[in-house]
Amino acid sequence: MLALATICLLQYLSHLRRISQARRENSRLQDELEGLETELTDVQKDRTLAQLENNILREFVAQTEVDKSLELILRRYVLNPREGFAAFLQCEGDSCRITRSRGLSDESLATMRVERALWPRLNRERSIVLKDDALRESGLLELSAEDRRKARVVYVVAVGEGAEHFGAFATTSLYPVGASAEQQLELARRLMASVAANLKRSRALTQQEIRLRSTHEMLELRRITDQPSDAPLNLLAEFVDALRVKVHADRGALYLNSDEDQNQSMARCGRELPPHLLGRWHQHEDILCDQARHQTGLITLGSAGLALVGVETLIGQALVLPLVNARGRFGVVCLSRQSREPFTAEQIELTEWAGQHLAETIVRVLAQAAVARQARCDGLTELANRRTFDLQIEHEVEVARTGDTDCSLLLVDIDHFKTVNDTFGHLAGDEVLRQVSRVLREQTLRMRSGDRALIARYGGEELAVLLPGIATTGALRIGEGIRTAIEQTTIEFGEHIIAVTASVGVSTFPRHGGTVQELIAAADAALYRAKSEGRNSVVSATMREPALTGSR
Ligand code: GH3
Ligand code: MG
Ligand code: MG
Repeated sequence: MLALATICLLQYLSHLRRISQARRENSRLQDELEGLETELTDVQKDRTLAQLENNILREFVAQTEVDKSLELILRRYVLNPREGFAAFLQCEGDSCRITRSRGLSDESLATMRVERALWPRLNRERSIVLKDDALRESGLLELSAEDRRKARVVYVVAVGEGAEHFGAFATTSLYPVGASAEQQLELARRLMASVAANLKRSRALTQQEIRLRSTHEMLELRRITDQPSDAPLNLLAEFVDALRVKVHADRGALYLNSDEDQNQSMARCGRELPPHLLGRWHQHEDILCDQARHQTGLITLGSAGLALVGVETLIGQALVLPLVNARGRFGVVCLSRQSREPFTAEQIELTEWAGQHLAETIVRVLAQAAVARQARCDGLTELANRRTFDLQIEHEVEVARTGDTDCSLLLVDIDHFKTVNDTFGHLAGDEVLRQVSRVLREQTLRMRSGDRALIARYGGEELAVLLPGIATTGALRIGEGIRTAIEQTTIEFGEHIIAVTASVGVSTFPRHGGTVQELIAAADAALYRAKSEGRNSVVSATMREPALTGSR
């Protein structure tokens, strides 16, 4: 009986063990099955997403231009632009710009941005759902009132991979309709990762285009300063104006430091304005130019910066560019526009290059002007040299001939100059020549049309004054003024006080000579008479006096 009971118990216990084993097996299978189901769902979900992604990708990968594929994505996400919006944003440093959008007004395009603080989070999480306060603080709601109403939720998805993201896609609705929010976001993330490669390529292309364009623009600007010019200031003004057009500024101004270290406006150019507005604009430019007084780098001023320096009207954006050479700042270029739209990085870069080029050009042009002056002038007296005189008298006689006017010539010769040299030395003689030249300049400047007169060193101690438009009477009066002034001038040289006189011969075209040679010969003959009649006098040529040759 006991044995029977034991057998039964053992059988029961083994039955219990089998049951528990079966249960365990069951639950393991159950777990496995559940695991498989989840996996299956994931696979299905993945496949659905992949399908959706493929559908869209197929559409836009087929597009050769990245712009068109972005447009397709925008159309997928914003079915009705009156009810929602989406935008691709590109951010560099503090500036954030919308490269492409749908459903946003122009006003919103200028103001919408992504708060800088949001970027690291976007980098980490790849997508962010923004609503309420978070949305209000994101910068994404800086929109026109009408667009702001469309945004109850904004989904922001990183464009790009890892830390390399260079933009964001912001949208008020997700795609496809009916899928779970999680699936939709996942799709958006995958789409943006796919888009990124294309965008990156297109951005590299755009940058290459920009580089090409800016090289082209630099060449165009360089061509202006490379042309030969007799009027360097016109050349500089033309350069500033061309730069102004290229950076879309309304007005431009070039200032150079005067001797007193004041900024002097040398050229202004740009949009025509009524006089009172133009005057105001010029005042603003002067203020802006003053801002560069202690700066050596480009200054960019938006409306806030402009208001700070007291420029609150007309100008919305300005670039103030100091011109710098080895000795420091010697000028300023000011470019300004009414629009508040900031100058682009490209425009700023071109302006900086232009500043350097302009600085080099000004130094070169000034050096050329100095060389040209040297070529025209006599080194000792700083009067025009003989070559310049020869060219000018040909020109003026021709002008007088065609214009049927007079042109007079004075030949001024210092009396007994050899004695000055012999008595006080050659250096004293040089000083006398310089002082007599100064007197000639002063006397000529006193006459009404003095700016047309040319004073030259004709040779040795003989000076010539060419007086276009002046008849004999006027020329004699000027000659007399010169003679008296020389007589009254005392020249100090060391401990010596030297006094000299001069004789003057006067001739007039066409009265005393019909050609340059005859005109000069007539003045020469008159001078010879002045010398032979006792010196220190002014003598007029006689009518068509034949040239006298021989020594004086
Ligand atoms: P006249 O009253 O007849 O003109 O007598 P002059 O002594 O002035 O005339 P002359 O032609 O006999 O002498 C001119 C002198 O001028 C001779 C020459 O050495 C001098 N001379 C010419 N050029 C210069 C110069 O650049 N510097 C100096 N110091 N002397 C010069
Ligand atoms: Mg002499
Ligand atoms: Mg002489």
